[in-house]
Amino acid sequence: MNGNIRVGSLFGIPFYVNPSWFFVLALVTWSYGTGLGEQFPNLPGASPLLLGLITAILMFSSVLAHELGHSFVAIKQGIKVDSITLFIFGGLASLEKESETPAAAFWVAIAGPAVSLFLFGILTTIGFAGHITGPLAAITAVLAAINLSLVLFNLIPGLPLDGFNIL
Ligand SMILES: [Zn+2]
Repeated sequence: MNGNIRVGSLFGIPFYVNPSWFFVLALVTWSYGTGLGEQFPNLPGASPLLLGLITAILMFSSVLAHELGHSFVAIKQGIKVDSITLFIFGGLASLEKESETPAAAFWVAIAGPAVSLFLFGILTTIGFAGHITGPLAAITAVLAAINLSLVLFNLIPGLPLDGFNIL
């Protein structure tokens, strides 16, 4: 599979990561970790980098949740999901075949952004109502923004993403 590395399976779906994924993981860990260290000078030792790593993993988990959204609706329609792959800037759920009707295809396409919108809602609620402060609040805000961008970027028509399928 084009050099993608299999890291196991999720709900019976083979799960791959592209080698570029490790590069981005390291980059986000470093850049966001050092940013947190500057923003919160009281964080001890290597903890900003650890928080950066956790943020990076949660970021990719958000992409994965989005792809699982597409996958679960496809599976419900009897379509086999061949694989889920995480790339440098996103993910791809590879389906065995197309949905049988445009309406069915619509539900597969909308399911990913729906999951991202749901996660955005939860994270925003935690951010505003959870009385969290400091690094935790900063990380929650970043993850909320990432999930919102997963909704918006995937709904842009003309890109070969979800927006294309929804229209
Ligand atoms: Zn999507």
